[in-house]
Amino acid sequence: MTAQLIDGSAIAEQIRAQVKAEVAEWVAAGHPTPGLATVLVGDNPASAVYVRSKQKACAEAGIQSFGHTLPATASQQEVEDLVRRLNADPAVNGILVQLPLPAGLDEEGVLSAISLEKDVDGFHPVNMGRLAQKGRDPLFVPCTPAGCMYLLQSVQPHIEGLNAVVLGRSNIVGMPVALLLVRANATVTICHSRTRNLADVVRQADVLIAAVGRAEMVRGDWIKPGAIVIDVGINRVEDPSRPKGYRLVGDVAFEEAKEVAGFLTPVPGGVGPMTIAMLIRNTLTAAQWAAAKK
Ligand code: NDP
Repeated sequence: MTAQLIDGSAIAEQIRAQVKAEVAEWVAAGHPTPGLATVLVGDNPASAVYVRSKQKACAEAGIQSFGHTLPATASQQEVEDLVRRLNADPAVNGILVQLPLPAGLDEEGVLSAISLEKDVDGFHPVNMGRLAQKGRDPLFVPCTPAGCMYLLQSVQPHIEGLNAVVLGRSNIVGMPVALLLVRANATVTICHSRTRNLADVVRQADVLIAAVGRAEMVRGDWIKPGAIVIDVGINRVEDPSRPKGYRLVGDVAFEEAKEVAGFLTPVPGGVGPMTIAMLIRNTLTAAQWAAAKK
């Protein structure tokens, strides 16, 4: 079998184009331009790259972005004060605090300070809690997990009753994606570093979401023939033949998996581009809610 690839870049591009058209319509109707504030604390180069690409995506979609940077030495109070100022700023509809925060800062405290209505990353403990509760809905769903579900449901809209295995239980990917799968009525197994017989568990998966951050850990013979495999991992492996000296691979051994899976996301070009598409979609939604509240 040769898996059909799920082209995250193309799907994300369609979402971004759609958001751009909706923003233009929204503004033409006399509403203020939607705005996203980014908060970057410290000088982690990868975080700076992520923030820049989010700002660029906003600009392309006609969304205003407000970049705020604080030094790594910023105190908890200073970061939370900035968040509170942004909460009070009517030009800001969404607030994105780039994670991870420098050591010493309390991430939960900062995320909890974000107004629920502006929590476009969906990491506020109340939004996460609502995601886990039956009969409740979060205002925003975290962007990477939402992107995984979008890709999955682009090839299999009905996942009710399917066996879904999630590798990883982090707050930003594994746990929320598992909760979304449960909400979609899949039967979900969450695996982590203490899981025994991992390959055997993975072999039961009709749907596999891999989010462990271990290069090509999932081998082809772990995958159930025909399974849908969503690879969230972004891992650098040395490759002297590349100009940068490395290439990016997922958590799944792509060449092996594509001989077994039914559908598979590539790395790069799978889940990665979806995160930003979901972020700008959430920002527009936040602007619409803010206007409806007035
Ligand atoms: P974390 O390091 O926070 O979590 C990794 C999870 O994998 C943990 O739950 C850990 O278990 C589990 N794990 C680690 N090693 C193993 C193992 N050998 N066997 C089974 N489980 C294991 O990572 P993130 O969730 O933040 O990210 C995961 C991957 O997704 C990374 O490659 C990251 O770069 C990528 N990513 C991609 C994004 C995108 O595409 N936009 C966005 C965010 C992340 P335990 O809990 O027991 O420690």
